[in-house]
Amino acid sequence: MTATIDLKAAASTLSVERAKVVHQMEELGADVSGELTGTVDYGDAFADGGAATAERTEVLGLVESLKHHLDDIDQALAKIDEGTYGICDVCAKPIGEARMEFRPTSTRCVDCKSVA
Ligand SMILES: [Zn+2]
Repeated sequence: MTATIDLKAAASTLSVERAKVVHQMEELGADVSGELTGTVDYGDAFADGGAATAERTEVLGLVESLKHHLDDIDQALAKIDEGTYGICDVCAKPIGEARMEFRPTSTRCVDCKSVA
């Protein structure tokens, strides 16, 4: 069975997604490494220190999950370059077109996705 995944379409989907994630991180005041750049003001810390801290923690959590997603996207783009896109990292079998379409950053097949 030959792979029927459209790599060009996958690459463009991933690029669009990557730009979106980077933009979201910028809006949260973080750079692509997940560091807060301090360009976003989270309100007056002196007026309501507790709330500001809570919000900062929440933002850091969001940035972290976006950074994680960005890593997945970069990994998927690297796999397209390497010619291993759509191949399971664990068992080296094709992940399956439907799953790749549903989640273009998949690096494992359904059988292996829960394997540590
Ligand atoms: Zn597998």
